[in-house]
Amino acid sequence: LSHPGTPALPFLDGRPKKLLIGGRWEEAASGRTFPSVNPSTGETVAELAEAGSEDADRAVAAARAAFEGPWRRLTPRDRQALMWALADAVQEHYEELQLLEALDMGAPIGKQRSGRTPPWEAEVLRYFAGWATKIHGETLQNSIPGSVFSYTLKEPVGVVAAIVPWNRPISNAIWKMAPVLATGCTMVLKPAEEAGLAALRIGELLTEIGLPDGVVNILTGYGEAGAALSGHPGVDKVAFTGSTEVGRRIVEASAGNLKRVSLELGGKSPDVVFADADLSRAIPGAAWGVFSNSGQICCAGTRIFVERPVYDEFVEGVSKFADGLKVGDSLDRTTKIGPVVSAEQLERVTGYLDLGREEGARTTAGGRRLEDGDLAKGYFVAPTVFADVRDDMRVAQEEIFGPVACVLPFDSLEEVAARSNDTSFGLSGGIWTRDVGKAHRLAQELQTGTVWVNTMLLFDPAVPFGGYKASGYGREMGQHSLDEYLNVKSVWIDTA
Ligand code: NAD
Repeated sequence: LSHPGTPALPFLDGRPKKLLIGGRWEEAASGRTFPSVNPSTGETVAELAEAGSEDADRAVAAARAAFEGPWRRLTPRDRQALMWALADAVQEHYEELQLLEALDMGAPIGKQRSGRTPPWEAEVLRYFAGWATKIHGETLQNSIPGSVFSYTLKEPVGVVAAIVPWNRPISNAIWKMAPVLATGCTMVLKPAEEAGLAALRIGELLTEIGLPDGVVNILTGYGEAGAALSGHPGVDKVAFTGSTEVGRRIVEASAGNLKRVSLELGGKSPDVVFADADLSRAIPGAAWGVFSNSGQICCAGTRIFVERPVYDEFVEGVSKFADGLKVGDSLDRTTKIGPVVSAEQLERVTGYLDLGREEGARTTAGGRRLEDGDLAKGYFVAPTVFADVRDDMRVAQEEIFGPVACVLPFDSLEEVAARSNDTSFGLSGGIWTRDVGKAHRLAQELQTGTVWVNTMLLFDPAVPFGGYKASGYGREMGQHSLDEYLNVKSVWIDTA
């Protein structure tokens, strides 16, 4: 690792990383591997096994055997204890996991999120560990004459295929693992091809804490492995996070055995700044709401609607803020904005920068790739502000997934509510105002799964997260999310 002060990682020993199947580290059946590239430098960090459909068969069989065997025999308290042990292991190895994330997909190690103590993913595991012992059915009154008694049982759905993107590798893996373990399901995790290292290191931790073999299997690889899982007759549920386009394919592929499906998909979220807002909070808040993680956040507030009287002041402030963000190598602790994940993503994002200009947006910050000195080796994009954007421009309609803010003026609450909702997506929305009535009115109007008022991008294990419309269905986090992994069985008994 070239950056000064970065500790050596024994995990990166130069040997190709393998697949975790039934508690053993295995090569892909094809013997194929693929490189994981550091987007700050363009260098290969490690070779990873490339799973295909034969590996999907093996992993699903291992997950089924665990589900019907040792895992089923554990009590909820046993599962809870394992989840606490995993939380402790993730917390203990968090710095290493963050380094892997930084190398794999470019999230800066000094970013704001790392300041959260204890680490957020450990807290997610502890929250769901609490639920492991509190899953229960109900006794129900019925109106059948006589002595018929009815109750429900909640049972794990079975084998879950969790297919995830690259934008937050540690969280993406743990968000899926926590409800699986709490409900007594088993899983095959398919990390994204761009960022599989953190998931593989978590796989080693699972073995160290003594999780029974086959409860969690990990297949690195491309979309082919994901497709093999989503069409697999041995999979009972797919939990997917990723693009809307792939989400649609997963729904189609799931039709064979009518799997349960939950989808956390893309977004083009509105962030509404009223003239009465405290701009000293709204400007940095809205800016971080787009630029965090180089804009590679599904719920980024990318369409910033600003009430006309403060429009110019806001555009100037947010542009100055964007220009002041330090862009650099993900291992440099002073970096605020790392690279975008890959050469392909760089091309996509810079393509949108050209498109925005062609469509007539005014660039007030950034607007280009950064290539000075060492930055030329990586995939760096300057945080960009487009002003005078119109709703019908493609940059205002399509998910860019890069550090690009579109700022649009508005004149009334009714108008901004309609324009905010005029999109196929519905993941989240932001509101900045000092008027509590206005905040509640707009919060109720927005067709989105989450609304943040005078803040952005807050998450908590107790608070559900998910989409409306083409941003998907099902919820993660919170009590409701457990239902995605449980079947309800009704039992009737005539006691006469
Ligand atoms: P992607 O949809 O291209 O890939 C996601 C995963 O699906 C990867 O593991 C990939 O290998 C796999 N995959 C690809 N083709 C497949 C197929 N045909 N069948 C099954 N699996 C397949 O998404 P991405 O580029 O990795 O991530 C960016 C997208 O993810 C953005 O649209 C973003 O908004 C979305 N996202 C959503 C959330 C959320 O919680 N709503 C969170 C993070 C990212």
